[in-house]
Amino acid sequence: MSVSSDVHPDPTHEAGLSREQAARLLAECGPNTLAPPAVISLWSRVSAQLRDPLIIVLLAAVALTVATADYADAIIISVVVLFNTTVGVVQEVRADNAVAALSAMTAPTARVRRDGTEQEVASADVVPGDVLMLGEGDIVPADATLRQAAALLVDESTLTGESVPADKDVHGTDPDTARLRAGTVVVRGRAVATVTATGAHSALGVIAASLHPRQQLTPLQKRLAGLGKVLALVTVGLCLLVLGLGLLRGQSLELMAVTAISLVVAAVPESLPAVVTLGLALGARRMAARNAVVRRLSAVETLGSVTVLATDKTGTLTEGRMLLERVWTPLGTVTVSGTGYEPVGEFLHAGLPPTPALADAVREVLVTGALCNDASLVPPAEAATPWAALGDPTEAALLTGAAKAGCAREGLLRDRPRVGEVPFDSLRKRMTTLHSTAGGAIDICLKGAPEAVLEPSLLDEEPEVLKRAREEAAALSAEGYRVLAVAAGSHTALPDPAEKSESGLRLLGLAAISDPPKAAAEATVLACRSAGITSVLITGDHPATARAIAVRVGILRRDEAEQPGLVVTGQELAAGQIPDLTAVRVFARTSPQQKLDIVGAWQARGEVTAMTGDGVNDGPALRQADIGVAMGRRGTEVARQAADLVLADDELTSVVAAVEEGRRVYANIRRFLLYALAGGAAEILIMLLGPLFGLVLPLRAGQILWINLLTHGLTGVAMGAEPSSPDAMHRPPRRPRQHVLGGGLWQRVLRLSILVTAVCLGASLWVRHTGGPWQTVLFLSLLAAQLGVALGLRERVLTRRNLSLPVAVLTAAALGVAAVYVPFLAHLLGTSALSWPDIGIAAAAGLIAFIAARTECSRSPEGRG
Ligand code: ATP
Repeated sequence: MSVSSDVHPDPTHEAGLSREQAARLLAECGPNTLAPPAVISLWSRVSAQLRDPLIIVLLAAVALTVATADYADAIIISVVVLFNTTVGVVQEVRADNAVAALSAMTAPTARVRRDGTEQEVASADVVPGDVLMLGEGDIVPADATLRQAAALLVDESTLTGESVPADKDVHGTDPDTARLRAGTVVVRGRAVATVTATGAHSALGVIAASLHPRQQLTPLQKRLAGLGKVLALVTVGLCLLVLGLGLLRGQSLELMAVTAISLVVAAVPESLPAVVTLGLALGARRMAARNAVVRRLSAVETLGSVTVLATDKTGTLTEGRMLLERVWTPLGTVTVSGTGYEPVGEFLHAGLPPTPALADAVREVLVTGALCNDASLVPPAEAATPWAALGDPTEAALLTGAAKAGCAREGLLRDRPRVGEVPFDSLRKRMTTLHSTAGGAIDICLKGAPEAVLEPSLLDEEPEVLKRAREEAAALSAEGYRVLAVAAGSHTALPDPAEKSESGLRLLGLAAISDPPKAAAEATVLACRSAGITSVLITGDHPATARAIAVRVGILRRDEAEQPGLVVTGQELAAGQIPDLTAVRVFARTSPQQKLDIVGAWQARGEVTAMTGDGVNDGPALRQADIGVAMGRRGTEVARQAADLVLADDELTSVVAAVEEGRRVYANIRRFLLYALAGGAAEILIMLLGPLFGLVLPLRAGQILWINLLTHGLTGVAMGAEPSSPDAMHRPPRRPRQHVLGGGLWQRVLRLSILVTAVCLGASLWVRHTGGPWQTVLFLSLLAAQLGVALGLRERVLTRRNLSLPVAVLTAAALGVAAVYVPFLAHLLGTSALSWPDIGIAAAAGLIAFIAARTECSRSPEGRG
């Protein structure tokens, strides 16, 4: 792999397009996107709902009732069909909108030069003729021709399948080397290129045209669809039993058929898919409001069961705002004062200004660090704002240090322009730049991790000096500093390839850079621990630095810091010296590829792993992790597009917030299942057992459907927005393989349904005994009992959060009463007016069911979900 070092300025492309030109081209050529997703028409949504087997059965029932002139039932069944279809369509549209909003939030962006300034635009707005600025980790947004390239290496595997990245250069023998294709990834170097084709005309467009991406169901949706089928079969079986028994008792076939159909419709939780989809979509929206943007709906449910959080260090656990604090040279050490990136500070040696010799030695370290550097410092726009840095914070810290010594990079580069480079990458852990001097010589500037620099093959130094430098580096790392060794040399001619320059150099010194832990990092790690999530640190930094930070943020306890086996290095991993990766808490000096092994080891143990990453090589690990987490601001485009979760604020606490939302969604789905299945089972039991107690046809078809409408349609959907339990994050995560009805849920369904059946049958038998309208009492009791269960399953009954649930319950109760007292409805449903004591009996049934639901849930170790 050769490293090119040519930078070819092309003045014709300096300014790029003007804003007007870009807008005109966008209108002419269309957006730089692949074929937009087909808009689903309202009619196709409605017809999809009408193709649902349950609805088909209901439509058949409408036909049957009309044919037999049973207009009352025909009207009610039609209302149910209308209501279910409307709810289904509305929820689908809401879920789709939520997903579309999420995609927009993580849409790819590109850097272009327009009107002479560099700006970030949505990739969709890139037009032919745009001047693209590309750097490490960028995804090439459109086909383009190279104008300038520095050490450019591009991964084209998405298009060609070729796994070895290709060198790209302006002047290659093969014209392909100067061509960039949409969808490929810059793995190293920088480039300026002019866009030649966008959207469907680009290489990616041509490939994508043959693919038809489809929205996939999430694992939970798939499992629930399976469960739904089983439930439907069981219910149909039981309803056939009701039908058969009714016929045996001499009821008419038409009456029993409509009753059995209504019972199927009522007992099967047909709103389950809608509740789940909407629950996931609302969960995703709430996560986005808490700065955690999911890129796939399935991530919402997976987040709830995360058991391991593997995080990187710089910028995630630490501020990522680096400060050069000490410089070591063979002549002595100086400390550097100052804050942030403001180039103001003092150099002191043992509290006094350094001797001229030491000051010169330090200056040499700083000048070399500033030359071997791609960052830049940005002065404050207003007096109140601090200095900022563009580029790698490590390099910015060195620039600031040099500026404090009066050496600005621009001035240094003017005297010694860069003529070549071997860029930094996390495998080599060092970077070299080559500069031409006025005298015609080539100066070599090198900086990197101590163990990648303090090598006899690179440095022409006495072993004694190397030994001292290594000891000093180890001591500084143990204090938590990121340490860089700096070396320099000179050649008479430009070495080709540039790597050849990395030998025979002089060690100038060490730079110790601090990067304090974020204020919230310790609290985040603690929050994970109390939620049963193990935090693991994976970093490219030195083990001593990593250990010091891990102790400070609580990943390691103080007494664990020196315990063998908890902190390991990538080298030990590579040598196969670590038998159990899941016992390790800190991985230092790891390569991005090793992250894959670490995730794999956790997954093999059945754990659900969330992993942060932002580098260009982190893509595979992010994809492999159950939840790949990328930083929205700091992360590379590649990392963002490979991730499942993008943190808009770059704060790790947002992962914890997302886990909490994920747990809430899952708990609410289980809550809905408990409610809907217990209600459905009670309806069937009542219809099966009622006749044994002399209630010939316990409920009429219309009554069953009315209850179904009020309990599932209104209340059930409102359950999806219930707040999370206050102790949701103080419980261990659910076991990943746990069935959605596991953890005692189906037993609770059974107990609650038996209780509701007993209470409702008891109430109606009592009223029949007193000569009252037993069927209407049974109808109202069953409705009241189900609403009682809905309220009883809340975390806190009287919370103001999710007012939609109490409102839904009250509305359902009012419509239940209306079914008895509004003459038209009473006629339709066949109910009769009740006396006050009868109403009291129905209310008591509701109260008993409410108390039973609360008792049932207080027994459950995992709360009400
Ligand atoms: P983290 O997990 O903290 O984000 P990382 O994986 O990003 O760490 P790298 O950026 O790969 O770590 O850095 C590894 C080592 O390489 C650092 O400890 C440092 O010694 C050295 N290093 C980092 N940046 C540069 C640079 N720009 N030039 C030279 N050496 C560098």
